[in-house]
Parts: sequence; C-alpha cells; structure tokens
Amino acid sequence: MVCAALLPAQEKRTAVVPDSPARTVAVLPGGANTHYADNRAPLLPSPLVKLPMGSVRAGGWLRRQLELMAEGFTGRLSDISQFCRFEGSAWAHSRGEGQHGWEELPYWLKGYYNLGYALQDQRILAESRRWLEAVLASQRPDGYFGSRGNLIGDRLEGKAPDLWPNMVMLYPLRSMYEATGDKRILDFMLKYFRWQLTLPLEQFTPFSWQHWRAGDNLDSIYWLYNRTGARWLLDLAHVNHERTADWVGGIPTWHVVNVAQCFRAPAQYYQQSRDLRHLKATERVYDTVRGIYGQVPGGLYGADENARPGFTGPRQGAETCAMVEIMFSHSMLAAITGDPLWLDRAEEVAFNSLPPSMTPDLKGLHYLTAPNQVQLDRQNKAPLIQNSGDMFSYNPHQYRCCQHNVAFGWPYFAEYSWMATPGNGLAAVYYVASDVRAKVGAGTEVTVKETTDYPFDGAVNLTVSPAAPVRFPLALRIPGWCDQPKVSLNGKPVTLPKTARGWVIIERTWQRGDRVQLELPMRIDLTIWTRNRNTVSVHRGPLAYSLRIGERWVRAEGTEAWPGFEVYPTTPWNYGLVVDTLNPAAGFEVVKRPGALPAQPFTLEDAPITLRAKGRRIPQWKQESNGMVGEVQPGPVRSAEPLEDLQLIPMGCARLRIAAFPQIGDGPAAREWGEPPPVILASAASHFEPPTVIHDGVVPASSSDQQVHRFTWPERRGTREWVEYVFPAPRRVSSVEVYWAEDATRGGCRLPESWEVLWWDGKSWQPVAAAAGFELRKDAFSAAAFRPVETTRLRLRAQLREGAPAGLFEWRVRD
Ligand SMILES: [Zn+2]
Repeated sequence: MVCAALLPAQEKRTAVVPDSPARTVAVLPGGANTHYADNRAPLLPSPLVKLPMGSVRAGGWLRRQLELMAEGFTGRLSDISQFCRFEGSAWAHSRGEGQHGWEELPYWLKGYYNLGYALQDQRILAESRRWLEAVLASQRPDGYFGSRGNLIGDRLEGKAPDLWPNMVMLYPLRSMYEATGDKRILDFMLKYFRWQLTLPLEQFTPFSWQHWRAGDNLDSIYWLYNRTGARWLLDLAHVNHERTADWVGGIPTWHVVNVAQCFRAPAQYYQQSRDLRHLKATERVYDTVRGIYGQVPGGLYGADENARPGFTGPRQGAETCAMVEIMFSHSMLAAITGDPLWLDRAEEVAFNSLPPSMTPDLKGLHYLTAPNQVQLDRQNKAPLIQNSGDMFSYNPHQYRCCQHNVAFGWPYFAEYSWMATPGNGLAAVYYVASDVRAKVGAGTEVTVKETTDYPFDGAVNLTVSPAAPVRFPLALRIPGWCDQPKVSLNGKPVTLPKTARGWVIIERTWQRGDRVQLELPMRIDLTIWTRNRNTVSVHRGPLAYSLRIGERWVRAEGTEAWPGFEVYPTTPWNYGLVVDTLNPAAGFEVVKRPGALPAQPFTLEDAPITLRAKGRRIPQWKQESNGMVGEVQPGPVRSAEPLEDLQLIPMGCARLRIAAFPQIGDGPAAREWGEPPPVILASAASHFEPPTVIHDGVVPASSSDQQVHRFTWPERRGTREWVEYVFPAPRRVSSVEVYWAEDATRGGCRLPESWEVLWWDGKSWQPVAAAAGFELRKDAFSAAAFRPVETTRLRLRAQLREGAPAGLFEWRVRD
C-alpha cells in the first residue's frame, strides 16, 4: 500500500456520480498489476505499466509513419550510415574490437528492432536480431559487454570507462526480452550490472554524456529489478543516483538533449527514495527550462545545441534527438506519477514538432526544427543559432546522432499508447487508431480496437472484446485542453462528474463487443506568450497551428537514391495575426479536408484541418542575410497593410512555418516594428540574467541602481571578458557609451580596471583607434569616440578587477 502522505495532493481527489459506471481521478494512483512487471516493493507502486512490445498494433496515420520509416532512411540505414555496417563494427565483434562502437548503432537498434517488430518486417527483424545476438555474444566473463574502446573510455581520454553507449544498447535488449521472454537477457543484464557494481566510485559516470544522462542506466536497473527481484540492484541504483549529474540541486547542463533525456532522473529515483523533493526537482527543471526557452508552441525549448542566454525567441530550434527523448521522458514520467499532464506534453511534441523534423516520405531529416522557420537552406546560421554549418536542410546522410536516434520516436509512442493499470486494468494513454491485446482481471485476454482520427478529430471509438466476460477498470485519459469530455457506453451517455479531469475510469464486467465512445471537443484556444514578446499561437485540441507557406523543394547534396533537399518559401510569410483574445474562436473558421484522413496527414498538401484566420503583413519583418527568419519584436504590432484572409495548418504539417505570430494591434499599446536589434553575445552569461538587458534602452539612476536589470559576467573575477553586438547588416560606428555598475559596498560589482572596443574586419578582431581613450565613470555613461569603422560585429572588452565582478546596464553604439 502507498502511504497517502507520500503522494501529491491531487492523487487523492476522486470524483464519483451515484449510479454512473464511471468515476474520475485527476492522477492515476499506484497499485499492483499481477500480469505485467510493475514496480516491486520497496519501489513506489506503479500507476501505469508498460505493456510488452507487440501488445499494441498501431493503425491509421501512426502505422503509416512506421511503414514510411521502414521504407525511409531508418529502415535502410545500414545502406546509408557507416555506423550501421555489420562488418568491422565493434558492436558485431565477440571481443568488442573494431570501429564505431559508440552511440550510433544502439540509437538505431533501440528503434529499428521495435519498428521491425511492430510491422512484423522479417528483413528488419532478422537484421536486428543478428546485431543483438552479436551484442549478447560480446559479454566478458566479468559482465562487461560491447566495444572495448568504451571500456578504456577512448572518448574520455582514458579517464574512465564510458558507460553511455551501453545504456542505450540495453533498450533493444529489453525489447527483445519483452518480445521473446529470452531469459539469457536477464542473466546478461544481471552480470553486466554486477560488473558496474565493481567499478570504483570515481570511475562510475564521472563526466560527459554518461554523467548527464545516467537516468537511462537507472531505468534499466529498475526494469531488471522488477523482473528479478535482485535487491542488490537497488544498491546500484543508489550509486547511480549519487553519481548522476545533479539534476536535484540545479540544472547541470543546458544541452538540448541532456535536458530532454535526463530532467526525469530525479523523478525516476523518487520511486525508490520516496522523497517528494526528487519528484519536484524534475518538475522544477522542466518548468525552468521551458519557462525561459520554451515560451513557444510545439512543446520544446529553443536550444540549438545548448540553450543560450538571451536566445529565447521562436526562431531558436531544437534538435530532433531532443524530440524523441523528451517524448520518452514524458511517457516514463506519466508511468511514474500517473499524471496525464506529462502525456499532454508528449503529444504536444509528437504531433507538432516531430513530423516536420523529417520529410513527408521520411527519407530525410534535419537537425533543428523551430516554431518559426521560413527557409530550410544549407547556409551557416551561426551565431543566430549556436551550431555552425548546415542544420536546416533535409538529408538522410548527415546529422549523425538524430539520424540514428529518431528511430525510436514513433515505435515507442505506439508501444506506450496503451498501458496496464493497477487492479489489472488497461489505460488508453495516447489516442491513436490501434488494437491492443492484454491480460486483465484474473488473466482473461482482452482486445480493444480503437478507431479515431485523433489528433485531427476528437472522436474516439473503442470496442472491447474479452475472451470471456471479465471485470476490470478501463481508464481513459482526458487531455488537459478538454474541459467537456463526453463518454457513452453501448450508445448510452455516461454521466461524468462536472470537473471531469485527468482520467475517466469505467470499472465493470466487460462483454464481448462492448462499445465506448469518447468525444473530446476541440475548441480554438490562443496562447499569448507574454514572456516572449506577446506573440500569439493558435491551438485546437492538441495541435498548434502555423501559417500555410508555399514550399519549393530544391535538390541539394545527398545521392540519387537518398537525396537531400532545401526548402524555400513561395508565398509571403511575414504576417501578424488579428485576434480577439476575449473570444478566440470568433476569429477563426475550421475547415476540414473532405474524405478520409490521408494516410500521411503531416504534409502541406494534405493538411486535414485548415483554420481561416485574419492578419496583416508586417513589411519590415524580413529574413536575415543568412536566410534565417527575422526575430519577432514585442507586440502588439502596428500594421497599415490590408487585412487579409490567412490559412493556418497544423504545425505538424508545416515544414516552413510561422507558429508564433506577432499580434496586430492599433491601440495605445501597439508598437512599430523597428530595425532589428543586434544579436548579443557574451564571453559568459547566466540563463537568469541574459545580456539582452544592455540593449533595452533602460538607463539606471546610478551605478548602484537595484531596480534596473544589469548584466554581469557570472563567477568571473580578475579576467578579461566581453560582450558583443552582431548587427544584421554592416554599420558604421564611431563612438560608444557604457553604463557600468558599481555597488561594491553591497558586495557586488566594481568598475572594471579598464575597457576597450574591438571591431571585426571580416577575419579578425581589431582595436578601434580611440585617441582620447576609454572613460571610466561611476553613476554616468562612460564614453569613447574613435575613428569610424564599418563592421557587422563590435565587441566591448573589459579587464575585471582582481577579486571583483563587473557588470553593465546599457551599451549604446552611435554612427
Ligand atoms: Zn541528434
């Protein structure tokens, strides 16, 4: 039994209506399921338990994604990627000798095998099993397996073994066990984790990916404990927690995938520690990262490698790896907590962000997908995004990690769409056309057939077919956006409590052919992103909507068989939306595409839903010289352009997209769209105090003003630091003014020892010629005039005083 005091308060809220077969519960409580491997004591009882691979058979558009994957680059990666060639691979060698023994192959197999199993594709299954048998055969007597190069940590300069690739490889092995019940896999994993226990503490995931992502190792430890009951695994789990990067006390890395993959680690450990601080830590990390960088539609956060202070707008992208990892993290968190909020979040990513990371035929992918992204070309976008080089064009040959890792996105989503519940029941977790076969009640097999066009439509029909009449609870998830769900049972409406939220549970004796109809009315909602320049996004149910932008596909690189493509816009995209925030639905008309849902609905041409909207163009909103979309400016925005009818399509259908719109306004608060501000970089910056404040026009009353935001170089003392303006086009500069901070009496900043200005001549940094030098004043702007320069980049460099931080409120640049 669960101690109620350990549970979040909402878990205790159950609502019942007398004489109704349904009750609702905000959060599914934990409990026992005797058919599937739920948590063993002392781990907290499971609210949701994953069904073994093969239990769910996806249909509809999801099955089509799987088929396209099999025909696309995922299914043919051994032809495309050197990392997936058997011959010469360290993963294929009985002593782990050879090449490419790192993460790529395990990433691929983690999805490739499950894809083959979902489709019963014999070619894929045979190839997967060949690899997995080779991995099993590579185990040493002491338990270690896989590449011996990882054992000596050849990527970690020999300082520790690199456990990271094996963390990934355990997933397809687990799937193999689920599918086949092959006991060798349990023995193999027991031996391997025994070996991990022998590692000296300082050798156990000390740094790098394995340190930040050790939640994956923990997941497999618990998976194995639940199947074997070997108590020493819980000791290993403690060690694993202690040696994982500290996601409890802080945010140890702002790398897009590290966050997506391991923010869940404390909540995973909560199952063992039962310490609510661990659960709260996971929520805190998610809320903090999305609170700063995720003020956009699509369920992700801008981190075009790492999240960078100041780069919070909707044109910042997220890596494809981060999408599939966070979908999995959310599924896992729902299983740990029973909280459907995590499932809403997974759907947000799955439906709005994942499809456009790939071409409609799933034969190419790109690295970065952003809510606003109007051109997918190969030009370098740095420093507007962090990575240099081609990150936007579609291509199955590059983007090394995502190319392999994306394989598990849809297969895992399908596998988690139904789960087992306490009381030997079943839960509809993600609504997709599917058949699920599972054991319920005292062991009766039941099949539930689900037909739906969700997420494009809110009608879900279930037909329950037990082998014999059987009593069990059937839990239906009510998405957070839906406030008036309707349920009927065999054609009769089921009375739901007024505040039906979370899960509707129907517990009864089910007969063959019982029908459950669920209606999830989808209304138009607007989100005003007040922390992101008052941009607005449009939602209907779980889908966010993008401007429909015409696409021109241009062949680029790749091979004849596996070409790459750039995509250019053929229609204007620089629109702001005219919306009525008090009555959102009034401004939109929902137009459904006639006929059956297209097999592949995530395309421009076949978008199943179009919203007619109103907007005006913003002529000053342009692309940057490198093709990137201009950043949105604070709204509401004035526009004198004519009111136009616009078409919005689901974000998931839009590969060119504006999904975070400026709001058009004409009241006193409306602003003109100005010249684009410079991009601001710094030698060091905090996520909580970005350097953008030095260009906000707010002048302090004094150098010790506590009311006005200032920028400081965190943790820096006595060093030489800089801030930099990157201008959208070359500009002439002849003087600058800086307002320095000085509040040493409060233990804060001191004026720097000295400062200077550098300009970029296209090849290197040059000092400006400032005959009168660089003033250094307190409580006023410090100025410097110099021989004019024409440049795209200007740097302000300061020598900090020994032992004292320095900061500035404002940096003005003049022609
Ligand atoms: Zn990646």
